[in-house]
Amino acid sequence: MFEDIPVDVSPMYEGERIRSANMFVELAGPKSIGAELVQVEEDVEDGKIEVLGPNLSEMKEGEIYPFGILIEIKGEKLEKELEGVIERRTHELCNYVKGFMHLNQRDQIWCRVSKEAKDAGFKLEHLGEALSILFKEEFPIIESISIKIFTKKEDVEVFLEKTSKAYEERDARARELSDEDVDVFYGCVMCQSFAPTHTCVVTPDRTALCGAINWFDCRAAAKMDPDGPIFEIEKGEVLDEIKGEYVNVNTVMEDKSQGTVDRVYLHSIFGYPHTSCGCFEAVAFYIPELDGLGIVDRDFKGETPLGIPFSAMAGQCSGGKQVEGFAGLSLEYMRSPKFLQADDGYERVIWLPKAIKDSLLDFIPEDLAEKIPTEEDANSIKEIRKFLREKNHPVMERLKEAKATAAETETETVEEEVSTEMEAVPEMEGVPMAQVAYAPELSLPSSGGMKIIFKNAKIYAEKVIIKRK
Ligand code: SF4
Repeated sequence: MFEDIPVDVSPMYEGERIRSANMFVELAGPKSIGAELVQVEEDVEDGKIEVLGPNLSEMKEGEIYPFGILIEIKGEKLEKELEGVIERRTHELCNYVKGFMHLNQRDQIWCRVSKEAKDAGFKLEHLGEALSILFKEEFPIIESISIKIFTKKEDVEVFLEKTSKAYEERDARARELSDEDVDVFYGCVMCQSFAPTHTCVVTPDRTALCGAINWFDCRAAAKMDPDGPIFEIEKGEVLDEIKGEYVNVNTVMEDKSQGTVDRVYLHSIFGYPHTSCGCFEAVAFYIPELDGLGIVDRDFKGETPLGIPFSAMAGQCSGGKQVEGFAGLSLEYMRSPKFLQADDGYERVIWLPKAIKDSLLDFIPEDLAEKIPTEEDANSIKEIRKFLREKNHPVMERLKEAKATAAETETETVEEEVSTEMEAVPEMEGVPMAQVAYAPELSLPSSGGMKIIFKNAKIYAEKVIIKRK
């Protein structure tokens, strides 16, 4: 079936990583531009593959090039709503091609071609050929498919205008619904190949972490393939509306994570946050010193106020982990009225990159927008604190209250063996570093008439176990 393609094509190559030493060229990615788009069309010439712009033979080893993939499909049973879900499979199917690596989705794609593949005679047409066979195999409702690959900067720029319009149309449609309007949520386990304990729970108010799949997309996908990776979750009993905890969601999480995760809050990064795979567009993280939240997306190249860049933070919470104080999310979820509502949403956000802030200005409450600093205003905790104080950010009030409560508690419990703050923390195991600093004050049990109190201390520990006696 793939006899015309000079490299192997098989699911066994899905996990292949092409490191820079091994790479012939990089396509799209953080240092260039690129996107992918699937469109259902009326008129599609089956099997047509076009490469517009320089092919691999005209590219220089070690260089980075713009890259776009337009996949047009036709089929009697194909609905427009399926575009997002079919498009999301591009990631997996590209990775079946030995010597071609594909990461992320939409206009975040990042690809590489290996030197070995280039030496074997691999051309970009071969990628198109492999995709057209694989897509038809995976989705028998596709009757005709044609693929255009763009590598010329000007063409990719024009293509990007088209893709951002298409993504926005899909996202805007999903914004018309809210969780209360539906009886069914959806689960997606497409990312379990590299994040085995991860299941995305997709609701009208919470698009998937990858930002590429919304509730409508899931509905169409589950209808088309009820035994596929996207499935229905009856909304059922609500345990906590604000946090977004549901009995059926917990059951599905437990089942799909083989018992590793048995509770999730859809709208909080504390307690039991949603698991994170690795495709998330951004990460929300807790900044303990200021009791606020930061957001960083994959396009932001600098360091966050925690002193680490996006990549390090992503490494800490990806792979299907549930890490309190961190949660992968889509940028579209930041447009949701339920955006981290249990944590006070934007009232608690105290830092985010300027590019995200600018793109979300219509969704951040007007009175808060100027109170949230970006990397252009403040970066260190000290600078952020100063900015928040000057702008009278609501988190400052929260800090004052916490300080007053802590002082009161100190007076009341000075003779106690274990501080009230410690007792207030539920039994926790494997709490991340950020959470360790969550209590503003830690008291250790007294011994020999002495009591040790750590104030404003930063504690670095790989694992902390706090057990109720
Ligand atoms: Fe599915 Fe979530 Fe992965 Fe997107 S991030 S493909 S919704 S599991």
